[in-house]
Amino acid sequence: MTPTQDDLYPDIRAALRDLCAGFDSAYWQKIEEQNAFPEAFVNALTGAGWLSALIPEEYGGPGLPLLAASVIMEEINRNGGNSGACHGQMYIMGCLLRHGSPEQKQRYLPGIASGELRMQSMAVTEPTTGTDTTKLKTVAERRGDKYVVNGQKVWISRVQHSDLMLLLARTTPLAEVKRKSEGLSVFIVDLRDAIGRGLSVRPIRNMVNHETNELFFDNLEIPAENLIGEEGKGLKYILDGLNAERILIAAECIGDGYWFTERAARYATERRVFDRPIGQNQGIQFPISRAYVNIEAASLMRVKAAELFDAGKPCGGQANMAKLLAADASWEAANACLQTHGGFGFAAEYDIERKFRETRLYQVAPISTNLILSFVSEHILGMPRSF
Ligand SMILES: Cc1cc2nc3c(=O)[nH]c(=O)nc-3n(C[C@H](O)[C@H](O)[C@H](O)COP(=O)(O)OP(=O)(O)OC[C@H]3O[C@@H](n4cnc5c(N)ncnc54)[C@H](O)[C@@H]3O)c2cc1C
Repeated sequence: MTPTQDDLYPDIRAALRDLCAGFDSAYWQKIEEQNAFPEAFVNALTGAGWLSALIPEEYGGPGLPLLAASVIMEEINRNGGNSGACHGQMYIMGCLLRHGSPEQKQRYLPGIASGELRMQSMAVTEPTTGTDTTKLKTVAERRGDKYVVNGQKVWISRVQHSDLMLLLARTTPLAEVKRKSEGLSVFIVDLRDAIGRGLSVRPIRNMVNHETNELFFDNLEIPAENLIGEEGKGLKYILDGLNAERILIAAECIGDGYWFTERAARYATERRVFDRPIGQNQGIQFPISRAYVNIEAASLMRVKAAELFDAGKPCGGQANMAKLLAADASWEAANACLQTHGGFGFAAEYDIERKFRETRLYQVAPISTNLILSFVSEHILGMPRSF
């Protein structure tokens, strides 16, 4: 039986499979060894127009539904790739699309659609405040026709491979706002002007081959025209984009999950120990099968969430639940796959240890599992607010 949702966008699936076939295991291993950015892969995706999936036709994209975009992300990971290198280019522009002025959209979106402009960084997280976003300390102070930014961010991905970055900073002190979610604003930072002129970037070595950085703002000047929407409403604008992000990340996890279970089932069938395939033992079969069941279920929730999103209906609950179910299922599948491969699972040439590390990240970023459970507790089950 093929996965339940394989009949969704079969043409997109086939095209992505073909594209990914040009970036085989040897390619990803070389990139990992060199700690490099998968430039050729991202260029191929961009050239074929996949990363502009969500940009409307009037700005040069195909204006596909989010469900179709989720299939693109799923197929990248299902075919051995890592969407983490490029998923930002697909969804970060959503904030500009929904809340930017007509001039801003005209100025940036066609370039993002063609890939000439890379907008794949979003700077929210800070070292001292973490998940408690409303307490973030980076400030943007209006001075004439500029904002002057001071502060620090951490874990900001793909900055060295972006032209534009979204920045969330406080424009009204926390003590002066009625609600803590007010007084934060979103800006477009042109990294080509900013780096070395008020913005410094320090890469963070980390568990996966993922370009992520500490950022230091020291009187960085941003033209006032780079403010998105109204001053003080930035957190709402960022939150508006999170459902799309959750659904796309869920799809990546689902792609990983299918990759792990397909690999594990194949190896369990081929590998002979004690004169029989190891997959003949139910102790080997069941963890792989259970992970598969959970991936299928997560995929259904992803489809439900995406359909609601595409219909313009509230989907926060489904988007968050899809992300949690998918991240758990892919991690379960990763463990089953590694265990099935025994010692060989640890050998880089099998790709399993790489994908294992990559899929582990989804339990923490872009949102940690606990924060999703907190959302469900408070907003779906109506339990008391905990923070
Ligand atoms: C590789 C990588 C790339 C990233 N890329 C980006 C990026 O591009 N842009 C960006 O802005 N951020 C990025 N992040 C940051 C990421 O979103 C955060 O790491 C994540 O949201 C968790 O925040 P934190 O690390 O500050 O953890 P903390 O807030 O310090 O929390 C630590 C742990 O405690 C738990 N916790 C905290 N408070 C509670 C509570 N009240 N109840 C229960 N549990 C709680 C959290 O769930 C977490 O597990 C990235 C992170 C990584 C690792």
